[in-house]
Amino acid sequence: MTTPEGPVRLGILGGTFDPIHLGHLRAAEEIRERFELAQVLFVPAARPPHKEAGHLIDPTHRLRMTELATNENDAFAVSTIEIDTPGPSYSIDTLGALQAELGPQSDLYFIIGADAFMEIHTWKGVDGLLQATNFVVMSRPGSPVQELFHVLEKTVTSRWPHLTFTFGLDESCGVETLQAAPSQKVIYLVPIVHLDISSTDIRQRVRSGRSIRYLVPAPVEEYIRRQALYKES
Ligand code: ATP
Ligand code: MG
Repeated sequence: MTTPEGPVRLGILGGTFDPIHLGHLRAAEEIRERFELAQVLFVPAARPPHKEAGHLIDPTHRLRMTELATNENDAFAVSTIEIDTPGPSYSIDTLGALQAELGPQSDLYFIIGADAFMEIHTWKGVDGLLQATNFVVMSRPGSPVQELFHVLEKTVTSRWPHLTFTFGLDESCGVETLQAAPSQKVIYLVPIVHLDISSTDIRQRVRSGRSIRYLVPAPVEEYIRRQALYKES
């Protein structure tokens, strides 16, 4: 994807989205704004290798809810790339496929919560992934940004001493830093507003008959009710 002005910045937000909630949407919106992304692509996982598949509801439902939630935002889109691919979804494969699909001029930003990023050393092909794409690591409730920064710096540089990373924090992280070093992949640690919402909590609420209003977009709430999702553990 190119424009006369150059590469197009695109965000990729993967997840199980079981279900998608306002925490995901607000995070995507903040990152879109901060990095001036043309689009954020939500990529529901079919069978993430690091989660027990037994807990996941059918991909069709998770995809539909992701579509319902992102519909009204022109800068949000949904990719079925992982759901359409048989077998477990590995980020490195998804990234390669998306790069092929979107073209070499697309500048991709892999958006991920700090909790998920801490597990990244267990991912398949992580070295390649860290070299192939920028990362935007979002703070999550319970992880102050300063603390996260030091943990990340230590974890990443000690694990991958042969890779060079630029760490951006607060004001120093953003589009300026990116344009100053166009050939280098960057891990941005970005403080975002903390909406302490998780899919796990939402599933528990539904199971025990409690309200999930204002935790998920209204069409998603309605879909869960109509399809009678998350009634059983
Ligand atoms: P679960 O409770 O089932 O693990 P989840 O709420 O963590 O679900 P995922 O689909 O696992 O949702 O998350 C996808 C991505 O969004 C991950 O990178 C995760 O860190 C991030 N994320 C999830 N919830 C929030 C939130 N409230 N604020 C910011 N980022 C979030
Ligand atoms: Mg999670």
